[in-house]
Amino acid sequence: MIYLDNASTTPMDPRVVDAMLPYMRERFGNPNSPHAVGKGAAEAVEKARERVAALIGAEPKQIRFVHSATDAAHMVFGRYSWGNPVVSAVEHSSVLDAAREESDDSCYTVQPDKNGIITPETFRARVDELFNGRCQIDRMASVMLVNNETGAINNVKELAKIAGAYRMWFHTDATAAAGAMRIDAGDLGVDFMTFAAHKMHGPKGVAAIYSRDPDCALAFEPYGTLDVPAIVGFGEACSIQKELLSQEKEDADYQTRASLFLLHLCLALEEENYSIGVTRLKAMHFDRIQSIRFAGVDAEMLVQLCSDRGLMISAGAACQSHNEKPSHVLKAMGYSDEEARSTVRVSFSRMTTRDECVEGAKILAGCVNDLERMRNRG
Ligand code: PMP
Repeated sequence: MIYLDNASTTPMDPRVVDAMLPYMRERFGNPNSPHAVGKGAAEAVEKARERVAALIGAEPKQIRFVHSATDAAHMVFGRYSWGNPVVSAVEHSSVLDAAREESDDSCYTVQPDKNGIITPETFRARVDELFNGRCQIDRMASVMLVNNETGAINNVKELAKIAGAYRMWFHTDATAAAGAMRIDAGDLGVDFMTFAAHKMHGPKGVAAIYSRDPDCALAFEPYGTLDVPAIVGFGEACSIQKELLSQEKEDADYQTRASLFLLHLCLALEEENYSIGVTRLKAMHFDRIQSIRFAGVDAEMLVQLCSDRGLMISAGAACQSHNEKPSHVLKAMGYSDEEARSTVRVSFSRMTTRDECVEGAKILAGCVNDLERMRNRG
């Protein structure tokens, strides 16, 4: 099996599993218990909080644990968003849902450019048009750091400055970015940042909310007993990623994987005279995620056929895969329904081998060719 759907979730690093196991066995305590086993669990949670904070250059008191990035976004909007929020049209559905729920379905959206990027110019023009220089205390603005379907990278630092000038809160969904690129939350100047462990070789079921003001973090105190093993695993995953990022290897590695994959894909398709569309802008694109369009090919069928032949990719975000509608992200970028429906997403992780990139490209090309042949025959 070749897994090239790492934007949906990543395999756990074996070191993460090892770090978690003792907290499922002998160190099973409830962190709220006053005895030694409970205190051991509470200490493990605090150590994990330090490690998660360190990944984004934050302090432990700025971090709260929740169950998922979806949960995190709902909590941020639920606690701090007043009035209609300003959100980018290409946000993950979890953020769009959270924003809509808090505003009776009427948020102000900001459109991306044709590459899927929310440019500071567009963002400024939109908020100027909406608010005309009037302060918007307690209104929420939200733009993601990296888009999970296209890999487009936003200049969140500039966007947060613009929102700050209006005294708006600024939230960034860093789920597709955290652990895979260097992030300094303080330097970005965001009020809230949310991200999940399972996108960086950590466990599912745990995520973090960063709050610039530690007092704001108090509103995200968890209810009930914490999932200590998952939190410990999250801490371990963050430390491993931080170490790798400090070696400045991650970016180059993703570039190599993406280039290798695209090269072999094109080579395999060339023989059939088939050309592809790649949504990819060098300067502002994260190589980890590739959005590739095969004109005339049904992406859902392609994903299924690839899966039958042992290659896991996706047609847009996993959370939207049961949705009949074409991707709202690609639509916002100006794609037609048909173009959006013929686009697949291929995403890598540091555990993807070069052989998997080459083999995966060949399987994908084979499936595209077979679907094309079937279509031409039909
Ligand atoms: N934001 C982005 C950018 C994502 O890719 C995802 C997961 N697909 C989420 C939020 C939601 O994350 P979770 O699965 O932890 O709820």
